[in-house]
Amino acid sequence: MKPSPISPTIDLDGHGVQHGHLRLPYSRDDSAWGSVMIPIAVIRNGDGPTALLTGGNHGDEYEGPLALFELACTLSPEEVGGTVIIVPAMNYPAFRAGTRTSPIDKGNMNRSFPGRPDGTVTEKIADFFQRELLPRADVVLDFHSGGKTLDFLPYCAAHILADEALSQRAFAAVEAFSAPWSMKMLEIDAIGMYDTAAEDLGKVFVTTELGGGGTSTAHTVRIARRGALNVLKHAGIVAGAIDAQPTRWLDMPSGDCFCFAEDDGMIETMVDLGEPVAAGQLIARIHPVLRTGVAPQEIRAKMSGLLVARHFPGLVKSGDCASVIAVVIE
Ligand code: ZN
Repeated sequence: MKPSPISPTIDLDGHGVQHGHLRLPYSRDDSAWGSVMIPIAVIRNGDGPTALLTGGNHGDEYEGPLALFELACTLSPEEVGGTVIIVPAMNYPAFRAGTRTSPIDKGNMNRSFPGRPDGTVTEKIADFFQRELLPRADVVLDFHSGGKTLDFLPYCAAHILADEALSQRAFAAVEAFSAPWSMKMLEIDAIGMYDTAAEDLGKVFVTTELGGGGTSTAHTVRIARRGALNVLKHAGIVAGAIDAQPTRWLDMPSGDCFCFAEDDGMIETMVDLGEPVAAGQLIARIHPVLRTGVAPQEIRAKMSGLLVARHFPGLVKSGDCASVIAVVIE
C-alpha cells in the first residue's frame, strides 16, 4: 500500500513532551500548497504501555477536545511511565467548522476506517490512525458526545466482542473511567468505525457519550477530565489511585433500544434523560407543523429500561434517531 501523505512534525517515538502537528497536504483555493494541521502531543517516559487519547472524531462534540487540549498542556513526563499520544480533534477540519462531518469532503471520521492513503482528506486521516497510531497503542480512549442533534446520559462504554477476554479488559477500563453510567454498547452501524478498527487490532478500546447538543457542561467536562486520568492510571501509565466514583451499568440488548422518527415535525419529549420507561409507554410525540387539526405521531418504547439518549433540536425529520433506551444491569 502507498505510504501515508501525512507527515508528523514531531517524532512519534521520541522522549519527553512534544507538541506538534500531523501535516496533511491539502491544496485549495485559499492555500495553493497548503496543509491541514492536526494538533498532536506525545508525552513519553520510558518503555511502558502506550495510550492513544482522541477527541473530535465528530467535530461538534466538545468534552473530549476540552479534556485533551488541557491534558496535553498539563501532563508532564515525570508523571508518565510509558507513552501518551493525544489528538484532541481527530477530524480537525470538522472540529474547526463545528460540524459532525468534514466540510471538505463530508467525511464522517467514524465511518471512514480503515481509510485510504489516496482517498479523501477524511480517509487519509483515518488511514494514518489505522496504520501509524493504532498499532502503537495498548489502550485507546475515544471521546464522543451527542453533537448538535443528540443528547446523552453521560456514560463510558465498550462493546461486547467475539473476543471475550478483550471485552472484559475493555469493560475494566470503562469501570476505571468512572462515569456516572457505564454501557455495554450495541452499534447501529459498526462498519468503518474507529472502534472496530481498534478492536480488530486487539486493542483495549473505550469510548464515551458524555452529553451533547453541540456544547458541553461543567458536569460533563469534569467527567471527561477525571475519566482520562483514571484510564491512564488503570493502564499503569500514570501512578496513583484511581478517582473511583459510583457507576451504574447499562446494556443495550437489541435494536429495540432505538426509536426513529417517521414524520417531520416538532418533537416533544415525554420522558427526560435517566427516567425509567416501560415497554409500550409514550416517550415522544412529533407534532405536525403544516396545519392545525392533525394529531401528533406517537413514539412508544419497544422495551423497558431508561432513556439514555434523545433527539436534541426541537425540529425533527423522518429517519432521525428520536430516542434510545438502555436496560440497567443490577
Ligand atoms: Zn461522536
